[in-house]
Amino acid sequence: MPVLCEDEKKFALSVPVVIVGGGACGLVAALAARDAGAEVLVLEQDRTPSGSTALSSGFIPAAYTRFQKAADVIDSPELLASDVMRKNHGEADPLMVDVICRASGLAIEWLADRGVDFILVKGFLYPGHSALRMHSLPEKSGQALMNALLEACRRANIDIVCEAKVTTLHADSGHRIRGVSFSRRGEEIEEVGCAALILACSGFGGNPGMVKRYIPELSGTDYFGHKGNRGDAMLWGEELGAAIKDMSAYQGHGSVAIPQGILITWALMMEGGIQVNQLGNRFSNEHEGYSEQCVNVLAQPGGVAWNIYDERLHRLGLEFPDYRDAVSAGAVRSSPSLELLAQTTGLNLANLAATLRMTADFAAGKSKDPLGRDFTNKPALLPPYHAVKVGSALFHTQGGLCIDAEARVCDIKGNRLPNLFAGGGAARGISGAHVWGYLSGNGLLCAISLGWISGQEAARLVLKSR
Ligand SMILES: Cc1cc2nc3c(=O)[nH]c(=O)nc-3n(C[C@H](O)[C@H](O)[C@H](O)COP(=O)(O)OP(=O)(O)OC[C@H]3O[C@@H](n4cnc5c(N)ncnc54)[C@H](O)[C@@H]3O)c2cc1C
Repeated sequence: MPVLCEDEKKFALSVPVVIVGGGACGLVAALAARDAGAEVLVLEQDRTPSGSTALSSGFIPAAYTRFQKAADVIDSPELLASDVMRKNHGEADPLMVDVICRASGLAIEWLADRGVDFILVKGFLYPGHSALRMHSLPEKSGQALMNALLEACRRANIDIVCEAKVTTLHADSGHRIRGVSFSRRGEEIEEVGCAALILACSGFGGNPGMVKRYIPELSGTDYFGHKGNRGDAMLWGEELGAAIKDMSAYQGHGSVAIPQGILITWALMMEGGIQVNQLGNRFSNEHEGYSEQCVNVLAQPGGVAWNIYDERLHRLGLEFPDYRDAVSAGAVRSSPSLELLAQTTGLNLANLAATLRMTADFAAGKSKDPLGRDFTNKPALLPPYHAVKVGSALFHTQGGLCIDAEARVCDIKGNRLPNLFAGGGAARGISGAHVWGYLSGNGLLCAISLGWISGQEAARLVLKSR
C-alpha cells in the first residue's frame, strides 16, 4: 500500500476529515467529528458498510453507564481497566487502557443519545469481567449495531462513499497526510484531499501473508472476520515510520460449529457447559476465555472438541441469534441420555460418563477441578443433554499502529505524526501480545471508544488550523 511523498500535491476536492473504513470505528468517528463541527467523508471499499462489526455478536463492554445504573450494577472505568489489565497480565499500555475504558461509558451514552438503542446484556458474565457491562442492540447482533450506526450517520447527513477502496496515501516530506487516492469498483482512480485522516480500516486477518508472519500458529486456520481487512493501516503506517506493536495478539475462538461455521455462544460454558475432546475428556479450564480456547481446541486430536450442556443451557442459548441459526442448521445434537449422546456424537461413553461424574462432584464441592475451574456456583448438568462439534477460528487481529491518548498515530520515538489518527482494529489493541490477553469485548471496546476519541480530536485539529 503505497504512500507517495509529494510536497506540492494539489487536490481538486478536499474534505477536512477523511475516514478510511466504514465499520464501527469509522462510523462512530464520523459521527463524533461531525458533532464537533467538522465536515467529514467516509470511504468504504464494500458496496454496503459491514466490516467485522456486522459479523460480530455486537457486545460492547462499557463502564458506568446509565443502563448499568438502572439495573443497579456497580461498575467503574477503573474496574473495567483492572479487568482488562488482569487478562493481559499487564502487557498492554496502561495509559491507553485507562483512556479507552474511561471513554467507554461516555461513548455508549453519547451514541444512545443519537438513537443507537442500547440495552445492558443480562443473565451471565463473560470470562474475566467483574460486572455486567456488555451493551448491545436488543437484537444482540453486530448487524443490528451496524444498521443503527448507519441510520445515525444518515440522520447526521454524513457522506459515506461505498465501493471506494483507498489505495494510496499522499503525504508531504514531514509526513503530513495531504489526501488519499481510491479506486471505484476496481477501476477509476479518484483523489480527495484532507486536513486530517482517520484510519479505521481494521486489522490484517484477511491478509494470509501477514497472518503467517505475525500469527504463525493460526496460519491456515479459518478466518471468521471481514475478508477485506488486509492490514492496509499497518502497511501505510510502516511506510510513514509509525510505530506498530503487539502484532502477535488476536481474538481467536474455540467454539465454532463444524461444519456449519456458526459461532456457539460462550455463555453456555460460563453457565455450566463443558468442552471435551474426541476421547470424551475435558482438556482446559473453559472459564479462562474463549480466545485462548482456540489454541487449546487446535491442540486436541483432529483439532476439534464437543460442547456438552443440558436443557437449561440450551434455553439460554436460544436467546442468541447465532445459536438459533445453529439449531436450524442442525448443528445441535440432542439426546435424552448419556448413552444416546455418546452414540450420536461418537464419543467414548465410559470417558464421557466419567467426565460428567467428575464435573458433578466439582459442582457439589466434593472435589476440586485439577484444571482450575470453579464449578460450585452453577448446577451440575442433567439429562436431556445437547452437544455441538466445534473447531477454532481467528476472529480478528489486535496488534496495530501505536497511538496516544488522542488516537494520534505516533512514530517509534513516540512523536505524533502531524495529522494521522487510528482506531479500532487499525490501532494497537489492549490485549498485550498474546491470544490469552484478549478480554471479551476488547474488539468493539477499542472500535467504539477510539472511534469516538479520534473523531473529536480530528475535528479539533482541523477546526483549530482553520
Ligand atoms: C464472529 C465475530 C464475533 C465478534 N464478536 C464481538 C463482540 O461481541 N464484541 C466485541 O467487542 N468484538 C467482537 N468481535 C470483534 C469485532 O467485530 C471487531 O473488533 C470490530 O468490529 C472492529 O471494528 P473496526 O471498525 O475496527 O473494523 P471493521 O468493522 O472490520 O471495519 C473496517 C472497515 O474498513 C474497510 N476497509 C478496509 N480496508 C479498506 C480500504 N483500503 N479502503 C476502504 N475501506 C477499507 C472494510 O471493508 C471494513 O468495512 C467479533 C468478531 C467476529 C469475527
